[in-house]
Amino acid sequence: MKTFNKLAAVVLLSGSACLATAQDDITFHTKEVAKNLYVIDGTGGFAGGRMALSIGEDGVVLIDDGLAAHLDKINSAIKSVSEKPVDFLINTHLHSDHIGNNASFGADHVHIVSHANLRDRLKKQGIDKDTPAPADALPIITFSEDIRFHLNGSEIHVFHLPKAHTDGDAVIHFRDLDVIHTGDILFSGMFPFIDLKNGGSVEGYIAGQKALYDLAGKESIIVPGHGEIGDREALKASFKMLSDANKRIAKLKKEGMSEDEVVAAKPLEKYESWSWAFITTEKMTRTIYKDLK
Ligand SMILES: [Zn+2]
Repeated sequence: MKTFNKLAAVVLLSGSACLATAQDDITFHTKEVAKNLYVIDGTGGFAGGRMALSIGEDGVVLIDDGLAAHLDKINSAIKSVSEKPVDFLINTHLHSDHIGNNASFGADHVHIVSHANLRDRLKKQGIDKDTPAPADALPIITFSEDIRFHLNGSEIHVFHLPKAHTDGDAVIHFRDLDVIHTGDILFSGMFPFIDLKNGGSVEGYIAGQKALYDLAGKESIIVPGHGEIGDREALKASFKMLSDANKRIAKLKKEGMSEDEVVAAKPLEKYESWSWAFITTEKMTRTIYKDLK
């Protein structure tokens, strides 16, 4: 994931329209992480957020649908493990690298599921904050706290964590398989993007990661939106870093330092290894500063 290039920054910030010709080298792969549960990852450039696919007799459930520019490749990856059409598509959050193909799946009569706030934002502002999403892209099933699917011999618990990465985040817990897809409430080993403009918050993000850590057992498989698949220790490392970063910056802000002065003081220098193309140490510092009361 450290190989993210500037494209990642463009995509995450402003949508995917510019990517159509730039992503020809990306290939998608599937990997079975638990029985009948696959993750779909791309390599060769910025492939968007990590997707997952639950297959079985009762239906096919897709988690997130990637960047619009990759639709054909993503469909091929899905078909490589399941000949059946997708029944449900769960959206983890509003960003174009996670739900860039909603309109296509919606038009194919896939039942899109999301937190209510995600649907509201899509309807009002779209993914890119200025164009309302087309009707086909809108979730048709929404929840405010949680929703459960009982499919393929497994309970799939989809639940909300408030004001974390955005204000419409969904986490997916495959309870019988002991797998948690965190959406972007975990960028494993990297500074996270916390989308303050779409209702995310640093405090909520930390609280969300702690809640997921508490939910997970030692053996649980943690599937993050970005970064390596691992276990709950990745959650702990991230919230410990963020809590400490938050404290360091709060102290300087309390002393009366401006945002630029805090950046110049380099309070997150010891966490330099968490920096990457889109969330540099400076950007992480500014996000935390802005979000402090
Ligand atoms: Zn995101």
